[in-house]
Amino acid sequence: MNFDQVDLIIRDCTILPLANMEIINDGLIAIKDGKISYVGKVVNAPEMTAENVLESQGKLAMPGLINCHTHLAMTLFRGLAEDITLERWLNETIWPLEAKLKPQDVYIGALLGCLEMIKNGITCFADMYFFEPEVAEAVKKAGLRAVLASAIIEAGDFEKGRKMLKEAVGFAKRYQGYADGRITALLGPHTAFTCSEELLARVREEASKTDLGIHIHIAESKEMAMNIRKERQLSEVEFLEKISFLEDDVLAAHCIHLDEKDIAILVKKGVKVAHNPVANMKLAQGIAKIKELIDAGITVGLGTDGAASNNSLDMFESMKIAAILQKTNYKDPTVLPARKILEMATIKGAEALGLEDQIGSLEVGKKADIILVDLSKPNLTPLHELYANLVYSAHGYDVDSTIVDGKILMENREVKTFNEKEVMEHAQNTAFNLLKR
Ligand SMILES: [Zn+2]
Repeated sequence: MNFDQVDLIIRDCTILPLANMEIINDGLIAIKDGKISYVGKVVNAPEMTAENVLESQGKLAMPGLINCHTHLAMTLFRGLAEDITLERWLNETIWPLEAKLKPQDVYIGALLGCLEMIKNGITCFADMYFFEPEVAEAVKKAGLRAVLASAIIEAGDFEKGRKMLKEAVGFAKRYQGYADGRITALLGPHTAFTCSEELLARVREEASKTDLGIHIHIAESKEMAMNIRKERQLSEVEFLEKISFLEDDVLAAHCIHLDEKDIAILVKKGVKVAHNPVANMKLAQGIAKIKELIDAGITVGLGTDGAASNNSLDMFESMKIAAILQKTNYKDPTVLPARKILEMATIKGAEALGLEDQIGSLEVGKKADIILVDLSKPNLTPLHELYANLVYSAHGYDVDSTIVDGKILMENREVKTFNEKEVMEHAQNTAFNLLKR
């Protein structure tokens, strides 16, 4: 007998492949060399043997969730600056604490973030922060996939900006393809306020020269948007277009304060958007016009933002809030139906990160980034409509197993790649020590 030998089989599950494919009942997924080699009905599967088999009755296999915007190590600041304005949040708590951060703190905070994401079924995330090599090491240890950018903040200090850009380019060159190819590197200028026109022009030049994408915050704060208009008689987006910064390699977080002209510019330039409804609502920055962005043809992914402004890294929560916020905003319950939201959290997120050929749906040849959701839960019973249950009733803790590159990072809610308790203890101590410094 000559059976196909694969590495992992997930069998007898329901499969939600997404990307225009329908739900498969009594399904089987086979994984070989980190990629999906079969997805379909058990009865149609070729004979094969596997090193490892996950019997998955009562579970749903779906693409791992993609978190398009976070600052992972900010898990250390969770619950520290609550119920205050964005300006005070930044000036009084976050920036003074960030000034005290050491590389090891970022590693611990990032590992805690990886733990929370694995537990919540997030398999890939886009991060922008300081000491990014430490984040890369945490990602390597955790086994996740990530798109990392070393943050560039100038804040009036031109020399500092130049130095941070140089470091960011160095980081990108060194870590592109790191951790068995699971890490992609981008450049991360913070905003059009904290970086000067000259620095932004240099970032664009480097990005185009080295073929690196850019991750930036755009139109998050209304106050800052008003300042830029006063100063330049242009909107933030118009200003960025004027200096030729915007291209289709730009991932723009937030994009709340846009008018029709701004949206037209983002469409023309092919800019991708990361929508972070929970952080936007919590810091009361406004409601992004996601329906209009999508209708205009812009790729919109979903993000949590950092745990200091969310305060969790649960994309199931973000999916529900994204959906109901847009419905409320437009006073129209038909806006952003459940399936569309699921796509934002998976295949559209992959598109926003430029990884749609590799991840975001369960298809033969794609990387095996898969989560199993336990459907035998009170909050998921009865199961009339899978999309609705996933978006409106499921939580991160309904995720049973998390798989990246065909490797099981969590099985039956037990994380395999590192010791959960140790990471949490370490993070708790690090966060408390940071406050004492
Ligand atoms: Zn952010």
